[in-house]
Amino acid sequence: MSGRLVVGVDIGNSTTEACLALVGPGGEVTHLGTALTRTTGVKGTPASTEGALTAVRRVLTDAGRRPGELDRVLLNEATPVISGLAMETITETVITESTMIGHNPATPGGEGLGVGTTVSVLDLAGHPGDEPAVVVVPHGWDFDDVAAALNTAVARGVPVVAAVLAGDDAVLVTNRLRQPIPVVDEVSAVEKVPLGMRAAVEVAAPGRTIRTLSNTYGIATVFDLDPDQTRQVSPVARALTGNRSAVVVRTPSGDVTDRRIPVGVLELRGEVRTVKVDVDAGAEAIMDALARVQPLRDAHGEPGTHVGGMLAAVRDTMADTMDDGSGGAPGDIAIRDVLAVDTFVPAEVRGGLAGEITLENAVGLAAMVRTSRSRMAAVAARVSAELGAEATIGGVEGEMAVLGALTTPGTRAPVVVVDLGGGSTDAASLTAEGVCTAVHVAGAGELVTKLVDAELALDDREVAELVKRSPLAKVESFFHVRHEDGTVQFFDQPLPAHVFARVVVLSPEGPVPIGTRHGLDAVRRVRREAKRRVFVVNTLRALRQVAPDGDLRRLDFVVLLGGSALDFEIPDLIADALAAHGVVCGTGNVLGDQGPRNAVASGLVAAFAQGIG
Ligand code: ADP
Ligand code: MG
Repeated sequence: MSGRLVVGVDIGNSTTEACLALVGPGGEVTHLGTALTRTTGVKGTPASTEGALTAVRRVLTDAGRRPGELDRVLLNEATPVISGLAMETITETVITESTMIGHNPATPGGEGLGVGTTVSVLDLAGHPGDEPAVVVVPHGWDFDDVAAALNTAVARGVPVVAAVLAGDDAVLVTNRLRQPIPVVDEVSAVEKVPLGMRAAVEVAAPGRTIRTLSNTYGIATVFDLDPDQTRQVSPVARALTGNRSAVVVRTPSGDVTDRRIPVGVLELRGEVRTVKVDVDAGAEAIMDALARVQPLRDAHGEPGTHVGGMLAAVRDTMADTMDDGSGGAPGDIAIRDVLAVDTFVPAEVRGGLAGEITLENAVGLAAMVRTSRSRMAAVAARVSAELGAEATIGGVEGEMAVLGALTTPGTRAPVVVVDLGGGSTDAASLTAEGVCTAVHVAGAGELVTKLVDAELALDDREVAELVKRSPLAKVESFFHVRHEDGTVQFFDQPLPAHVFARVVVLSPEGPVPIGTRHGLDAVRRVRREAKRRVFVVNTLRALRQVAPDGDLRRLDFVVLLGGSALDFEIPDLIADALAAHGVVCGTGNVLGDQGPRNAVASGLVAAFAQGIG
């Protein structure tokens, strides 16, 4: 075969891709292979050279070629957009008096609801016989002694209606009682339970959750509250929802607040006007404000507020990663797009007695900056020196992506591609006349991973990434799992013990247990919602900017590209949303066999070949 051996290289935020081809004298292209590797450092910076070299060497080796045979390395002009993420809670539940205990001890005892007055087991002997007692047992009591004390009181005529224990022996105690009562155990701060107060203890049957104390009006009924008091306890009901057991103690001076934290004002400066928006107004208000100032030139948060801190953090990480000694200050970095998403994060209730968790509202912000300098020239120089072949920078990423996407069978111009990457979602349109427009919007796969991580309180990015990428299942026995779609799969070999009865993510390496108290359906909902709020919102946002007159109905073909287009449900979520506008949408299949990967690298080769032909 004669011709020129060229390799297209696309250095992305997350992934570096290479496409090797032989280009004949008439511009005809013979593809020899592709490779991909993780991007080293920040794309477009000298640190990203390493990944580019790895990808090129790999594709050469696979094709049985040597670097010396290379005629040209074609590098993309990396779009200088980098994205960063930040998240802040905007509500906080504070309980100033010890008012509630809501947790899921492994094995509470008994079941039902008991309402009475709190009394220490030490004082039980002196408790009046006509007053229902909720017995509080401090640390260090043996279950036999507790049961004996309760039975004695009952024999004396005291209606013992419930018990709260410090230790974890609720079942041992209930088994020894002559009259069954609900018992909540493992209350670490039991000494803080106020005594002589009206209290309600509820334990649900195994597999069930409490019904009365998780209902605002249930609490109002139990404690005979007026409407104002009822309003006050509603955060308690919310915090107790989903638990198998709970205790609510009514303290007259008790105060529960569901406070909104002022997060600060976000100032969006557009080409023609500036709009200020309160971040605690939520994502919708922020995105509405953004739509009014488009195109965005920069965004600022008041110093000293949460949003000021969020944007400063985003700018700082970018300044750090971009720092090449050329002295660009973080202030020089203009934020060109933001995506706000409403989210919730489980947070410990201040004033709770057993590490109670409630879901606080939060706002997540992805911001994208545009840097003024591109340092691809330095990358090209190094690549050239290492490989001994000429390296050139060519083509705008969006245009190259379109060229690559058009190698998908069944596509033709006019076409719009949407590149679903790690940090940004990029759209590029090519008209029948050959005019190309490209836009980048903040927020993509990384934000989805972060939302999954935060909302499930995993605190483990790797597990969150697995949850994002693969379907879930419930391990129902050592030999079978139930998939999230309800189907059952059997195994010949027993599943590992650590996944038994757990919600697992079916990663390519096998089932991985998810460290969350949520059930399968809840995890699935969190996963799909995160994808929808990021990718459906962003795809529509990006497409409106490239569609003729901003009208989605005037788009014909939409081709999805990028790592996140490999996702098992994101393309479907997007296609569903676009179907409403009559748009044909599908995942690209670059070169007929690369799926949504390698579009930009292939596009670079195609552009080079067109230049020859
Ligand atoms: P970039 O072009 O910015 O380098 P990519 O196109 O490589 O980014 O996309 C990176 C994103 O794709 C990451 O958020 C990653 O989690 C996601 N991703 C990669 N593979 C898969 C997959 N199989 N399923 C779902 N998401 C994936
Ligand atoms: Mg990319």
